[in-house]
Amino acid sequence: MLNSFYAKLSALFLVLIVGLGVLLAVLGGRTAQRYADEVEQKLNRTLAQEMVPRFEPLLEDSIDYKGIRATIRDMTGINRRIEIYILDRTGTVKASFAPPSAAIRQKKIDMAPIRRFMKGEGLPILGDDPRHGNAEKPFSAARIELMGEDNYYLYVILGSEQYASVAGMIEDSYIIRGGLVGLGLVVVVVAGLGLLLFRRLTQRLRRVQHAVMAFEQGDYEQRIDARSSDEIGQLATSFNRMADTLVDTMEELRQADRMRRELVANVSHDLRSPLASIQGYLETVHMKDGDLAPEERQRYVKTALRNTRRLNDLVSELFELSKLETKQVEPTLEPFPIPELAQDVVMQYEPQADEQGIDLRAELPEQHARVRADIGLVERALSNLIDNAIHYTPDGGTVCVRLVNEDENVCVEVRDTGPGIPEDELPHIFERFYRVDKSRDRDSGGAGLGLAIANTILDLHDQSLKVESTVGEGTTFRFRLPVAADGAGR
Ligand code: ADP
Repeated sequence: MLNSFYAKLSALFLVLIVGLGVLLAVLGGRTAQRYADEVEQKLNRTLAQEMVPRFEPLLEDSIDYKGIRATIRDMTGINRRIEIYILDRTGTVKASFAPPSAAIRQKKIDMAPIRRFMKGEGLPILGDDPRHGNAEKPFSAARIELMGEDNYYLYVILGSEQYASVAGMIEDSYIIRGGLVGLGLVVVVVAGLGLLLFRRLTQRLRRVQHAVMAFEQGDYEQRIDARSSDEIGQLATSFNRMADTLVDTMEELRQADRMRRELVANVSHDLRSPLASIQGYLETVHMKDGDLAPEERQRYVKTALRNTRRLNDLVSELFELSKLETKQVEPTLEPFPIPELAQDVVMQYEPQADEQGIDLRAELPEQHARVRADIGLVERALSNLIDNAIHYTPDGGTVCVRLVNEDENVCVEVRDTGPGIPEDELPHIFERFYRVDKSRDRDSGGAGLGLAIANTILDLHDQSLKVESTVGEGTTFRFRLPVAADGAGR
């Protein structure tokens, strides 16, 4: 039952508050009693002194009990509860005039309080009550003569039985009872308010706990409403952030797993078709060797060879991409003139462009800039972009390689007047094996690795490959390389 945090907190709080109430009641009672003692003693400070002249005549030869009792009644009235003792100087009780309800328990009492009283020290001074043992009582005292000797004391216990116990005092006093009821009410109200407050606080903790449990059981959408900025609010915010991170990580893992499966499927597919083709042609040549005309045999072998080359290209590209992605290739950054490189690559593709009836141009700035990058990797990226542009642009189109000098970079652009790429495909074209036109025979397109390779190369240079495309108008690929520290050169 005390398992919940709320129950523990409440139980502890109740124990504390009730303890505090009892302590306050006891302290209050004590104070009230001492205050009553003080008032009683101050009011009756001279009582004993006033009694002395009336008692001494009755003590001249012997103790005249009857006479003294009559005098007491005379002086104090019937309801006055006082006890009167005659003590010798050692504190031994010589005579007592007290209600007969209780016997004298202490024959000898401590004289020190009486001496302090006689000296006139500050009140209250409490003294022994011979009938109640060591109960400390307010008193009045005076020297008195007994049978001619003045070494005796008249010792008057004030209000003797009135405050004999706390219970008695509570029973007797309307004000103390009222005070106690008030204190009780305060304790109940504070306890009630405290429990409500704890309930509210622990309710928020419970909400956090529910959310965490729901999350644990697979409800990954579960979040906590974290409006306040106190510790619980911060806990909720941290949980929400942690949940977001976990969900993102899970999504990334799922994505990575999906990509890995796709990769295996794509690789097997892309390897299988040229392999099947090679096998088919070679088997035909092998089986029908004698029946085949030489040109026919030549054609079969050529096709098999072409497929072998495709296979070789594909495996090399895959190998290259995997090396780049696993960072086995560290780019060697060195300054080189990028316009010269661009010019070289454009020249390499000129025959292919001519063959396809494409106008391949290079627009290079007059001021030649040197960039700091890995020349081999940049050449590879640029070749892939130009290769794609020529490949996808129809006869009569234009492919333009342009360099633009910027403040700290050189912007390299490959623009074509090809078919363009639909907007919803754009985010995917840098993925491995992604082809916009999936139905296209792989002979007419590449393996879908060219852009992935170019993109990874730019990643390794801390740059990014950007694409802009309008369907029907053309596509522009663009990337930047930092100008080398020695700036513009020859
Ligand atoms: P591929 O080897 O198939 O060319 P890439 O990774 O180089 O693979 O390109 C991915 C896809 O992006 C291509 O299949 C093609 O659909 C599209 N693409 C790339 N470059 C261009 C371009 N210049 N114009 C139109 N589409 C392009």
